[in-house]
Amino acid sequence: MRVRILLGFLFGLMTGFAAVALLTYYGALHLPGPSAHAAAIAPAPAEPGTTALLPTPSPTGNVAPAAPTGALPPIVAEIPPPPPPPVPTGSTGTADRTAPGPQPPHLALPLDGIDPNTLHDTFADKRDGHEHEALDIEAPRGTPVHAVAEGNVMKLFRSKDGGLTVYQFDNSQNWCFYYAHLDHYAPGLKEGTLLHQGQVLGYVGSTGNASPKDPHLHFAVNQLKPDKKWWHGTPIDPLPLFR
Ligand SMILES: [Zn+2]
Repeated sequence: MRVRILLGFLFGLMTGFAAVALLTYYGALHLPGPSAHAAAIAPAPAEPGTTALLPTPSPTGNVAPAAPTGALPPIVAEIPPPPPPPVPTGSTGTADRTAPGPQPPHLALPLDGIDPNTLHDTFADKRDGHEHEALDIEAPRGTPVHAVAEGNVMKLFRSKDGGLTVYQFDNSQNWCFYYAHLDHYAPGLKEGTLLHQGQVLGYVGSTGNASPKDPHLHFAVNQLKPDKKWWHGTPIDPLPLFR
């Protein structure tokens, strides 16, 4: 009898052990672990269109209060910029004839050793019933005459009043420089020659209507018109352009 009791005890011990082992195995498979536990309490992904109901950070970093449940998210309409003012079209406008044209360039002096601040402005002097519209600079005969700016010789011309003359355009072709009463031209000077600023183009004389006792350079600046004719421009006072 003692043997049967002992066998029964051992059998019970083994089945109990097996039951505990099975329960432990089952628990390891199905009880939630740390990560699964965290996922279980996380909120479910929001459905599309509901994110606006969550508190949204304000620009200052504070959290705005949540909208009441069921309220629609506030709609912030994007305000378009105001349209530009209408541009006048067609031919009904009036051109601004008073608009300033290109500014005249600063010029180099055509003669050496001249102080523009001591020159007498002869632009408005009366000559033979009309305005002089040029600058006279007294100088000994044969004094070299320099180009006041870079640009091409447009015309070499001998006239009754101006004598031996040079018409030179600046590179913008907005301005024409006129040198008159020359004694003679610089060697090799031709129409079309590109003169550099300061380059000698001729020599002071008294050709034309200048008195032989009074050699001088007659220098004029004309603002060219759209036709760009060397004889067709609006005279401006040269002296301020040297100062
Ligand atoms: Zn003159």
